[in-house]
Amino acid sequence: MLDDIANGPIMTGKSSDGQKRERISLYQPEQEGLIFPEIPEFETFEEERAYRKQHLVAACRAFDQHGFDYGFAGHLTVRDPERPELYWTNPMCVHFSQVKVSNLILADHKGRVVEGDYAINRAGFVLHAAVHEEYPEVMAMCHAHTTYGTAWCATGRPLDMISQDAAAFYNSHAVIGASAGAVAVEEESGLSVAKQIGRNRGILHQNHGLLTASQHSIDDAAFWFIALERACHQQLMVEATGIKPQLLSDETAKYSREHVGSDYIGWLHFQTIYSHIAQTQPDMFD
Ligand SMILES: [Zn+2]
Repeated sequence: MLDDIANGPIMTGKSSDGQKRERISLYQPEQEGLIFPEIPEFETFEEERAYRKQHLVAACRAFDQHGFDYGFAGHLTVRDPERPELYWTNPMCVHFSQVKVSNLILADHKGRVVEGDYAINRAGFVLHAAVHEEYPEVMAMCHAHTTYGTAWCATGRPLDMISQDAAAFYNSHAVIGASAGAVAVEEESGLSVAKQIGRNRGILHQNHGLLTASQHSIDDAAFWFIALERACHQQLMVEATGIKPQLLSDETAKYSREHVGSDYIGWLHFQTIYSHIAQTQPDMFD
């Protein structure tokens, strides 16, 4: 999808085993000993699974905080580290604010729940399973019926590069008109949408809503989903003025995407949200 190595490998800091870490972003401090989020390294699948589940829960709760709920619509998925053909997702008919580690479900590509007590959202598994199957490199996905995203999707137009934030989607988002407005509950329909998602970070599904996919993490998929909804909101506001916006040049948009719009930066942005939710909503770990 996107090149995470914004500035070439730069060595910085030391990991727990004393080895120099490779610096993948200018945001990583060169000064040692400062508090800064680090992508953890896992010794066991259990540790990695627990991490992914906790971050999936936090992503659901972030969606609640942003008002992305619409009844039972909306689903977030992340692959299991040990069995990547299975993915963890939020349970059907549980509000984003009430998702917790213990009510997540593990499902296969046929929509069968292999772990957990709750039912699965059929539209969720049809779409997500199709994407996860079509693109083995996709680690996580998010979808919801948000107000501004769905409104902008009705125009059938891609986003204009009106800001540095919008540039995160430069050459990395697409409008899909197929199955537009029809709920993707039939497997064939999910597959036709999945095939068009390609290597894009964000999808504007016409007359339906937004989707994001990440090769990196659920953190990355969730943050760029929040960003995509915000970009649609801002685009609608600019359009409402009737004034033609000044756009970023292709060169500037590309620079912004590579330096402040990478998968790593999506993950890093989400750590701010994760930390806030983990501290204020400790029942997420139940
Ligand atoms: Zn939907």
